[in-house]
Amino acid sequence: MIPGQFTYHRPSSVAEAVGLLAGLGEEARALAGGHSLIPMMKLRMATPEHLVDLGGLAELRGIRDDGATITIGATTTQADVIRSDLLAARLPILRETSLLIADPQIRTRGTVGGNCANGDPGNDMPALMQCLGADYVLAGPAGERTVAARDFYQGAYFTALEPGEILTAVRIPVPPAGHGFAYEKLKRKVGDYATAAAAVVLTTSGGRVATCSIALTNVAPTPLLAEEAARLVIGTALDAEAVKAAAAAAKAITDPATDGRGTADYRREMAGVMVARALKTAASRAKGA
Ligand code: FAD
Repeated sequence: MIPGQFTYHRPSSVAEAVGLLAGLGEEARALAGGHSLIPMMKLRMATPEHLVDLGGLAELRGIRDDGATITIGATTTQADVIRSDLLAARLPILRETSLLIADPQIRTRGTVGGNCANGDPGNDMPALMQCLGADYVLAGPAGERTVAARDFYQGAYFTALEPGEILTAVRIPVPPAGHGFAYEKLKRKVGDYATAAAAVVLTTSGGRVATCSIALTNVAPTPLLAEEAARLVIGTALDAEAVKAAAAAAKAITDPATDGRGTADYRREMAGVMVARALKTAASRAKGA
């Protein structure tokens, strides 16, 4: 289908973009890579009268090493993430996850900020950012503020973004060198959204799990931080019993919909399987003390 009519705006600064979005109100939407928004417009599930294109804002694109944190500008594409030597060395789970998003054409346009701000439970970056304990930097009419990824998602397509605000960057604390990581995603075919997916970041010491963080994609209206599941593996040697307990705790917090990817029961079960796989892969990659 063809989208409805809209007026296209191309601001040249963040302040101008915020001013446009705040001034035009509910009928205006930010446009980044367009690979979630334009399909929604074609289906007439979104009918914005104004699109404010963030693509011309050079200040929003790029990956910066701040030492203990890495900052990724909102319009940095998923392809940029995959190409980044810095991320490959210090945050390899970002590359692993990005490679599981859609296909190369979509990843060339789709942005980190768009993926995080969209609020679609099927997006892969939100659970990853919750797992990593990332912060989102937001700019709006009242200035700049920071919201933790773990506090950002309120429901399907509902986020902490206030009217006129845009996400300008994602700040990610870098896990310790030698950490183990994995993003395990079950999908029906290449390019599909997750039936269920799990992100795990952990460290080990003396053959036992020292720290662990687990988050889930597309098994509830929002991404889920599986805190109890992570707690259950800390201090263990990640034996079969610990993995089973973590998978069960993760499943218990899910609330998946029955859809073309499977029944709710199947998707809940697969969330547990993804957690078990991700824990084992992460542990095998960890270089503990
Ligand atoms: P846009 O489509 O431009 O915007 C999406 C929404 O976010 C809009 O509401 C927009 O107003 C808002 N927005 C964008 N940027 C900002 C910002 N900086 N601040 C505030 N609001 C903003 N994604 C996955 O995660 N996993 C998949 O497996 C996957 N498969 C896909 C398969 C297909 C066939 C397609 C078409 C897309 C798929 N996607 C998938 C979605 C893709 O990753 C999108 O690119 C991404 O979800 C949105 O990023 P975008 O830059 O394209 O944002």
